[in-house]
Amino acid sequence: MTRSLLAVYPGSFDPVTFGHLDIIHRASRLFDGVTVTVLNNPSKQPLFSLEERMAQLRLVTADLPNVTVDGFAGLTVDYARLKGARVLIRGLRAVSDFELELQMAHTNKTLAVELETCFLATSNEYSFLSSSVVKQIARFGGPVEHLVPQAIAEELRAVFPLSQSLEK
Ligand code: ADP
Repeated sequence: MTRSLLAVYPGSFDPVTFGHLDIIHRASRLFDGVTVTVLNNPSKQPLFSLEERMAQLRLVTADLPNVTVDGFAGLTVDYARLKGARVLIRGLRAVSDFELELQMAHTNKTLAVELETCFLATSNEYSFLSSSVVKQIARFGGPVEHLVPQAIAEELRAVFPLSQSLEK
């Protein structure tokens, strides 16, 4: 009997960008199932609530039958164990990501030896892209349609109306 290979892709996704989506699409082709898990990180003050981020992710991954979305407040390794996942997916954009990501992978290995971290290198066109960049542009009324799906761009415009950006 073959066990299905499940992967967890954890992150803040505040909000989900085309860079995240690229990783999700590619992971969904590599693994039997992928759960995108929005982690509640107490050291970050998110723009969108956990529920909003989960709803955004569900909307933009609706066409991927083996992708599910969940939320979790706790250690990623505990979540992976709970779900019976054997792989953690992380995206790498640049060498600057690598140091922290490698440190996290080593740390997670000390907590859960059975869990492997799989790094997917970002597609070239998204190597500059982060949720923070998107929020910075949206805050000042700039265009973000080339960086995030249309529905997310609309939500950002609702949070940062043009009139508000001009006042500041
Ligand atoms: P975190 O707070 O865990 O870093 P993020 O939402 O910023 O959460 O990122 C989640 C994962 O997605 C991380 O592995 C990050 O490196 C990856 N990621 C973020 N932006 C991109 C991008 N443009 N291309 C590829 N991977 C990305």
